[in-house]
Amino acid sequence: MILTTNPATGKILRTYRRYSETMIFSALEHAHAAHLAWRQTPLSERAGVLLKLAEVLRKKSEQYARLMSEEMGKTSRAARAEIEKCAWCCEVYAANAATWLAEEEVAADGRKHRIVIEPLGVILAVMPWNFPFWQAIRFLVPTLLTGNGALLKHAANVTGSALNIQEAVSEAGFPQGLFSTILASHEQIEQIIAHPLCQGVSLTGSAEAGKIIAATAGKYLKKIVLELGGSDPLVVLADADITAAAKAAVTGRFQNNGQSCIAAKRIIVLREVQEAFTAALLAEVEKLVVGDPLDEKTDIGPLVNEQAAEKMEQFVADALAKGAVVRTGGKRQGAYFPPTVLTNVTPDMNVLTEEVFGPVVPVIVAQSVDEAVALANSTRFGLGASVWSRDLVYGEQVARKLEAGAVFVNSITKSDPRMPFGGIKESGLGRELSRWGLREFVNIKTINVY
Ligand code: NAP
Repeated sequence: MILTTNPATGKILRTYRRYSETMIFSALEHAHAAHLAWRQTPLSERAGVLLKLAEVLRKKSEQYARLMSEEMGKTSRAARAEIEKCAWCCEVYAANAATWLAEEEVAADGRKHRIVIEPLGVILAVMPWNFPFWQAIRFLVPTLLTGNGALLKHAANVTGSALNIQEAVSEAGFPQGLFSTILASHEQIEQIIAHPLCQGVSLTGSAEAGKIIAATAGKYLKKIVLELGGSDPLVVLADADITAAAKAAVTGRFQNNGQSCIAAKRIIVLREVQEAFTAALLAEVEKLVVGDPLDEKTDIGPLVNEQAAEKMEQFVADALAKGAVVRTGGKRQGAYFPPTVLTNVTPDMNVLTEEVFGPVVPVIVAQSVDEAVALANSTRFGLGASVWSRDLVYGEQVARKLEAGAVFVNSITKSDPRMPFGGIKESGLGRELSRWGLREFVNIKTINVY
């Protein structure tokens, strides 16, 4: 049985019955059968259905956004923006489909050599709750566009949103059965991956889940994409626009109630500007409104559940015991945890060694740019990073030294359907989005004529 709960009120929203093995394998077989016809459908038609999906998402935005807020505490504003981003992703892929999937001709030793991109079959997605629509849609759009079928096993606490995604895909006019949400257990995930009709698995989630899914995929030799956790640095250089950097640090760290893989989880600031920056940061944090996620004025809602807020409490207690100073926040109320800033942090604190998936941020002082870069890179993660400098050339030079899948100069880290997205080190394998994301679950096939 799956039970969904509203973290803002503690009230149970709904219960769902998990699917039986028969239901799950039937969904897999249907997706496979549908994909055989879908892959023959002209690309322009497949792209056209993506545009319909964008329309459905916009039409049902209020309904889908509200359930996301209820299931995991995201603010209404953030939830609507997430649905809009999903619609935009559909449009970007529809507009670029022909170019991004164009056949390539290569001069080699025969008469004709071509590279063609073909689908693989049915791909399983295992997704997290923090962006219930975005994570699933950014997997689905390129996967279905190339002619694959797909199954979605979403995080259990956003089951209602997972079913809304299925409804939207079906209403858009994708072939019946090409995509299904399945309410599966962890054990059933292994059975799906093992099945000959499953050709690959894409997991977005924690590094811990990534290692388990990667081991299973390795056992059955299935293609994998992993989008995992992060502990992204935001580096403020001595010549940075302090006001802009402080505002961005607040957005980057506290958006989605602090629960984003690419949140600015470690702020590293050069000694010369640490006082001015910390004061500006604290002033920005004080402006944040904590409260009911459905209230339009709210910036920060509850965390996904009370355990997540307790985890923040433990991070703060560990840091305090090791000598940190809480500059603002720090006290839990149920599933709510206020935006919290820590200074006097040292490398042995859990806020620096683990992924902090909530609204707590340590400010670390670096004596030099080299030290800032070394601190930024001293993590097992490598998802995103952000550097702040008025000197764009120097900012870019520093960006090149940072170990991450994406570095932003004078911007927070963010995803964009036109740009590849993914991590290195324990932040993952492979890429999503852009033309690079399109090339993960495909057969890059060569046809050679002599
Ligand atoms: P999670 O606990 O790892 O769960 C992610 C998904 O994996 C859920 O559907 C979960 O199902 C499933 N899962 C977990 N353990 C499993 C196992 N042993 N076998 C099969 N399935 C398993 O992560 P989360 O708490 O939902 O999400 C937060 C994490 O995701 C953070 O680390 C965050 O940084 C990361 N994330 C990364 C990205 C990125 O793009 N790199 C984006 C968003 C989030 P159940 O819900 O049923 O347990």
